[in-house]
Amino acid sequence: LKPFIVAANWKMNKSPDDAEIFLKEFKAPAAAQAVIFPQALCAERVSRWIPAGVQWGGQNCHFEKAGAFTGENSPEILKKMGASWVLVGHSERRTLFEESDETAAKKIKAAQGCGLIPMLCLGETLMERDEGRMQAVIERQLREGLKLADFAQPLAVAYEPVWAIGTGRVASTEQVGEAHLFLRRILKNLTGAAVPLLYGGSVTPQNCGELSRVPEVNGFLVGGASLKADAFAAIAASFN
Ligand code: PEP
Repeated sequence: LKPFIVAANWKMNKSPDDAEIFLKEFKAPAAAQAVIFPQALCAERVSRWIPAGVQWGGQNCHFEKAGAFTGENSPEILKKMGASWVLVGHSERRTLFEESDETAAKKIKAAQGCGLIPMLCLGETLMERDEGRMQAVIERQLREGLKLADFAQPLAVAYEPVWAIGTGRVASTEQVGEAHLFLRRILKNLTGAAVPLLYGGSVTPQNCGELSRVPEVNGFLVGGASLKADAFAAIAASFN
């Protein structure tokens, strides 16, 4: 894995045509690994138009490779289509689709078993932060989520405070620094590996410069600002 990873989470946006237009415009960064997470309906088109040096992945997958799971996406097929990555445990999956730490753990195992790199997303809600439970919550999400992981294989973690996702309310550099240092210590003990630790939550071309200089920030997971090729390229270039 490259030392910096800048990932675009397009969520439930962009048609295959929109995806193709984006990929033709997008200038891949020199220093960071760019990763595109399109909705599954665009996977085929993205796999065809992904620029050299850029990777892509699924926003979600099931924890079984195949079978009677109507409406779900197979990690094995994602891999066969050329995906390198899959997001696991995004806060929208946790809050809107009732995903648990246990499901995240199973998905990470399945993803690694298929040769995909899982990116475990975690972060506290505003209420949890206000109640002084930020560290307890993200430690639980990290340890439980990685319970079945193989640390000899690549994986990444994205710290995304729920109150900063899609709200325009970016975490301060102090808040990001504190959470990342805390997660880094646990990750080092747990895995013994250099696991990339990304920040996500209202990252923009305006605020990415100072966030990229926060210790232990190894990249960004970007939602809203990743929908425009030039804005996402500017964010990706903050690690040059
Ligand atoms: C996300 O969904 O992972 C995210 C960080 O979104 P946004 O950048 O829009 O806050």
